[in-house]
Amino acid sequence: MKTPNIDLKNLKNKAKNEIEKAEDLKELNDIFKRYLGKRGELTQVLRSLERLPKAKRVKVGKEANELKNFLRIKCEQKVKEIKEKIKKETAKIEWIDITRPGKKLVLGHLHPLSQVKNKTEEIFQLMGFSVVEGPEVETEWYNFDALNIPKDHPARDIWDTLWLKEPENQKSKIKNQKLLLRTHTSPVQIRYMKKNNPPLRIIVPGRVFRHEATDASHEINFYQIEGLMVDKKVTVVNFKAIIQEFFQKFFEKPIKIRLRPGFFPFTEPSFEVDMSCLACKGKGCSVCSHTGWLEMMGAGMVHPNVFKAVGLNPKNWQGFAFGMGLDRLAMMKYKINDIRLFYSGDLRFLHQF
Ligand SMILES: [Zn+2]
Repeated sequence: MKTPNIDLKNLKNKAKNEIEKAEDLKELNDIFKRYLGKRGELTQVLRSLERLPKAKRVKVGKEANELKNFLRIKCEQKVKEIKEKIKKETAKIEWIDITRPGKKLVLGHLHPLSQVKNKTEEIFQLMGFSVVEGPEVETEWYNFDALNIPKDHPARDIWDTLWLKEPENQKSKIKNQKLLLRTHTSPVQIRYMKKNNPPLRIIVPGRVFRHEATDASHEINFYQIEGLMVDKKVTVVNFKAIIQEFFQKFFEKPIKIRLRPGFFPFTEPSFEVDMSCLACKGKGCSVCSHTGWLEMMGAGMVHPNVFKAVGLNPKNWQGFAFGMGLDRLAMMKYKINDIRLFYSGDLRFLHQF
């Protein structure tokens, strides 16, 4: 029987060397297999022990088992070492410095018209008004007839209306009613009063449309805010107090208002509302055409025919209604001289608010 040539010392040095030089887990695994796998060098030594004479078998067997344990431990240590190294390298790449100043995100902000709308709503809500909205596409009954503007009434000529063509298949739904883009927010007064009984206080912000040429103070679409208060004994005095309070809160300075006679088909009496000029405090300047006053809104006491249109008895109820341009309010607040800037989408303009 041939005695196997076993050089454990050499084997140990060779394996130890290879383990220490291993760069990654895969290489280490290969080394492990090469020595301790099924056909590994050391495994074969252990298998060949039976062929040794007994005295030598015990000695070599002990040494071989010790070497097996030694290599196992060595491999485990190396695994830890490699994992540690990977962790450090990853940390180097994915390192987060929590003390570093952050990148500033570019945040947008609300459009000046939205800001003015929000502020207006807030002030009226504090005075007990609810915010109500209505459709932008209206029937001619809501936009004109119910507001005391009959077909042959000359007031219908005040607004050049954008009429809509109805698709054939929808014509039956609203009988004999032409559709249009609402020319004012007043139809919402009608819609609201048909569904809700007085006393009521509402404001109606919304987009309105006019078929007209644009210039510095005219746009084909703009924003209005409508107001309506109805109760047993609502008078012009209530109106004046509420509107003065609104302007003072909105412009954050003391403001005087005055009423001038005006005409609107849906109010009687009707008046134009002026407020003291912000630029000259009423002394007269170029902003107010040297009158000391700025035209701010149209208003009046709800016309009896409007109450009748919604089924309320004008003898039991009275109230005021008003309408003003949100664009105009914003132009006054921010001293903007061209309404078209609001709709131009020019960031140089918008970033100023
Ligand atoms: Zn002035």
